[in-house]
Amino acid sequence: MTAMTATDTTPRVWIGCLACYNAGRLVGDWHDASDADEVTTADVHGRDSSHDELWCFDLENIPVRREMSPSEAAEWGRVFYEVDEHQRAALYAWVAGGDYVSEGAGDLPSASDFEERYAGHWDSFDDYARQLADDIGLLSDVPEGIASYFDWQSWTRDLKFDYTVVDADSGVYVFRSS
Ligand SMILES: [Zn+2]
Repeated sequence: MTAMTATDTTPRVWIGCLACYNAGRLVGDWHDASDADEVTTADVHGRDSSHDELWCFDLENIPVRREMSPSEAAEWGRVFYEVDEHQRAALYAWVAGGDYVSEGAGDLPSASDFEERYAGHWDSFDDYARQLADDIGLLSDVPEGIASYFDWQSWTRDLKFDYTVVDADSGVYVFRSS
């Protein structure tokens, strides 16, 4: 199993032969998740094999903790390729945070909902709130002497009800809740 760098966000799966696994042998390798459904038993064994069932025993950069079929892994891989590379960590955090929009019957995230709802990476939610207040001109018509009495804490606290905030390595990811 290969070592990965902290900045590598490519979803990967370790695809192995189920029959070999049940016989106590780890026969398999890492693949990009988006290619998982194209891996054949001959790829896995390095030669033709009568063993015909493949399974993903380990995952990297996919925000669920379970094994899955190669076809499901391919769907996860494709969702992550649908968003820009620099947003993949945010998509991962959105799903791992648990409060996200799924697509279909399973727990696969909706890439289009992600793109609609993602409001960026910020040092803190307060930073996001201050920028939003500027952008919408919240206090633009209020004389400066009066604006200084504005209750930022209370406004930010209420605003936060409409958002999902997920911790990043540093700072936070901010998502609109609806
Ligand atoms: Zn096998």
